[in-house]
Amino acid sequence: MYHGVDRVSATRDPHGMFVTPRAFRDQVEHLLEAGYVPIDEATYLSAATGTPVPRRSVLITFDDGYVGVGEHAAPVLASFGVPSVLYVPAGLVGGSSDWLPVRHRHPLMGAAELREVAADGMAIGAHGFDHADLTTLGDTDLDRHVVAARAELEQVVGRPVRSYAFPYGTHDARVRSAVRAAGYDAAFAVHDAAGPFATGRVDVNATDTLRSFRIKLHRLYPRLRHATNRFPLLRSKAHDLVGRAPREDCHPHEATGGGR
Ligand SMILES: [Zn+2]
Repeated sequence: MYHGVDRVSATRDPHGMFVTPRAFRDQVEHLLEAGYVPIDEATYLSAATGTPVPRRSVLITFDDGYVGVGEHAAPVLASFGVPSVLYVPAGLVGGSSDWLPVRHRHPLMGAAELREVAADGMAIGAHGFDHADLTTLGDTDLDRHVVAARAELEQVVGRPVRSYAFPYGTHDARVRSAVRAAGYDAAFAVHDAAGPFATGRVDVNATDTLRSFRIKLHRLYPRLRHATNRFPLLRSKAHDLVGRAPREDCHPHEATGGGR
């Protein structure tokens, strides 16, 4: 699970959601060299109904639809013929990540850009309407974030929208069944997995080195991540051992524009 792919300073991306274009290319090359088999959304969904998929299958996903994903990630993926899925908040197409504090917001792809990346091999999935936490919504709002979001995105990209990624990765039984009832074929969470309508994902972020990326590919990583969740200090120590990728302009007090 990626979010942005762009050169963004730590000041404008304190949570490390943006991977540099260079790191992204290295990671995709590593996947292919190490024998991983990137699959597309349709293959992923057919696996759920029993169709066998290759060993070491991997599904690459992006949340939010940042402009840099279209500019930097899509061309790399297209050049290697690697498919992916992009999860977009339907009400913010061509807008920005308004759910974040003003200085941490970044532009999101517009309709033309979404159609372009879709033509290049990115499936488009739903990521709510305006990125609200679904578990906090009443039934009418939930409907807008699940049912209307799908209709709207299908109109924008002119293709079926088949899967869903929960904003913030948060979900409960009610929102999982709303997504299932709306006709989606699958939904993704992050660390709190709960069946095919809340499948866990491994997050790749700005501080990942190729070394930590390789550790995250290990099939036991999600369980390890879960275990260390209860001991943040232990996770931090483990991260110290593996090393962190340097961030540009890591001085939160500097009032720089950043975010090229
Ligand atoms: Zn998101």
